[in-house]
Amino acid sequence: MNLDASGDGHAIVPGHAHRLDPAPVGGLESLRRRNTAQVARALLQLGASARAEIARTTGLSATSLTKITAYMIRMRVIRELAVVMGGDTGRPRVPVALDTSHHRFIGLHIGLRRTTGGLLDLAGNVVVEHAVTHRRPTRSGILAEARDLHTELVAAAGGADRVLGTGIVTGGRVDPARGVVVEHPLLGWRDVPLVTEIGPAGHPVLVDSSVRGLALAETYLGAARDTSSSVFLFIGNIVGAGLMIDGRLRKGHDAAAGTIDHLSLGTDALDADAPGERCRCGRRDCLAALASDVAVLARARSAGIVRPHASFESLVKKSRTGDPAATDLLRTRAELAGVAAATLLDLLDPDLLVLGGGLLQTPEHLGALRSAAARRLTRPDAADRIVPTGLGAGSLVRGSASLVLHAFFTDPVGMLPAHSAGAGRPSLTGAASDGYGRARGSA
Ligand SMILES: [Zn+2]
Repeated sequence: MNLDASGDGHAIVPGHAHRLDPAPVGGLESLRRRNTAQVARALLQLGASARAEIARTTGLSATSLTKITAYMIRMRVIRELAVVMGGDTGRPRVPVALDTSHHRFIGLHIGLRRTTGGLLDLAGNVVVEHAVTHRRPTRSGILAEARDLHTELVAAAGGADRVLGTGIVTGGRVDPARGVVVEHPLLGWRDVPLVTEIGPAGHPVLVDSSVRGLALAETYLGAARDTSSSVFLFIGNIVGAGLMIDGRLRKGHDAAAGTIDHLSLGTDALDADAPGERCRCGRRDCLAALASDVAVLARARSAGIVRPHASFESLVKKSRTGDPAATDLLRTRAELAGVAAATLLDLLDPDLLVLGGGLLQTPEHLGALRSAAARRLTRPDAADRIVPTGLGAGSLVRGSASLVLHAFFTDPVGMLPAHSAGAGRPSLTGAASDGYGRARGSA
């Protein structure tokens, strides 16, 4: 994980009393905040470590590190583990690790059929996950469900003062700077102010597209951990790409970077006899119209491979039970995804291209996907850099909560609760003298 910690436009919470406290530019305070972020990221990457090891990784002096770790222990960001004897010097060492028992990040993913929410601890582990199927798939019904789920999650975290922030993601085009879903064609949403709809939370609420959230999660917690440039290609009910370039998540001029619904796969990708539906743009060779879960399912239904109201999962099941037409359809979809992957690899030359979405319900076709990519690539061996998601179970919680996890590991001091929170907080005596005494919101 080699991230540019200079911030990237997530940190605006319109209509809210609570803003992320921006790191001051220049000066000692700014340096200390950056050093704290470095220590937090080192511990996320290394796991439990001795201070000497953190010093080696971050290049910080022993004196700085002692002050920073003392502050982080007080704020329950890290904790000391049991003494370890021995080592090179023979002296006892006290390793430290991220404290996974106190602070929580909330994630909410608003999907086509259900809203999935949950809690992450500071190390990115999913500690709570809960999905609610939409009772009424209307805008107001879905938003009311999301609000209720959010309230439940705050309680599950142990109360509002345990929550560092909420990340909310959904498909379609989302503008993180305004906190607005600009357009979500499958839900029929236009200009939905998601941040204000969730209501005052008392902590930062960040919003982005599910694909960009997953790209961040892959970078912090998944397959792209050791890279600075990666492309996350999501092919499910929606299609899209999350672009992490040189340590920064690219959003583009209109927050539309990675919108590849109408990426042309070329006319030779078309089977003239296939009963595919036209894209809503009128063409037939668009990525979304050929390779999304909904498009593949529509083909399977109209070809009579599955029943008219069958789910995508039942198409996969049909293939597993040996139905050759179902298998052909799913293999062809994987090959079409390979063509899209080849275009992105040629264009951006990332360290890795990480795949996600319903596409991975058929991992048996990953080889076909890589071969199709290799046939299209200028340098065929770049197809070896195509890997499946590393997020595993709980990926929707990780993908949404990673918006706030990213903000935290960019500037932990700016995300931590005010020092004056009072009862129940660890003593902060002397905090002011080490440079960490400033309460959030005092800027
Ligand atoms: Zn199209």
